[in-house]
Amino acid sequence: VAHELRTPLTNILLWAQTAAEQGTADPRMVERAITVITDESKRLERVVQDMLSISEIESGRQNLSLTDVDLLILAETLREDFGPQAREKGIELSFDLPPKLPVLTADRDKIGVALHNLVGNAIKYTPAGGTVTVGVRENEEGQVIFEVQDTGIGIKESDLTRIFERFQRAEDERIAGITGTGLGLAIARDLVRLHGGDIEAESQPDEGSRFTLRLPGRRAA
Ligand code: ADP
Repeated sequence: VAHELRTPLTNILLWAQTAAEQGTADPRMVERAITVITDESKRLERVVQDMLSISEIESGRQNLSLTDVDLLILAETLREDFGPQAREKGIELSFDLPPKLPVLTADRDKIGVALHNLVGNAIKYTPAGGTVTVGVRENEEGQVIFEVQDTGIGIKESDLTRIFERFQRAEDERIAGITGTGLGLAIARDLVRLHGGDIEAESQPDEGSRFTLRLPGRRAA
């Protein structure tokens, strides 16, 4: 994580200095500096946000604010948030929702963060031309199941449980160039477990991965 904090900071400082020193002579360089500084600030913001989520979870101060969650709106939000990124990368993002959606009583924001992390990963670890599918269904026990499936690089069997631990990333040279802190899945699993649910991963290297998020449907009053 030190690397994930230091790299964007170094880039921001370098580009700010360069723009300050040579900006008047080269307006195009200033434009480039603004782009890099903006992108790197966003990256830094994500890392800081992840670290804050972890410390909040650790402090045990997490309260669930339970409501009936509109799964159609939840899916629509994911589509809005990730559609452009998927399109830009040449990935097809689709949603598989049953005509009659299950009822889910949960903390909408926390489930939103967990799904965000799963869909974000699916897009991040899937090369151009692939597909990411988000499915929702209810199982026989009345639990609500979300499935985030991709046709990406996949995960080796030996990494499948480790990746849910904090700061752990797969031992795969292909992820070296993909930014990440190894916190997203740990956060997602903590948030889902707070609800009495869980997340599991299945994967076939080079073929893709499926993350299954299971939540109790309607809470007993
Ligand atoms: P990161 O910030 O590294 O993405 P995560 O905790 O979200 O952290 O994920 C941990 C690791 O699990 C990733 O570094 C990657 O190796 C692996 N991983 C997660 N999602 C996927 C996926 N959909 N396909 C392949 N590998 C994945």
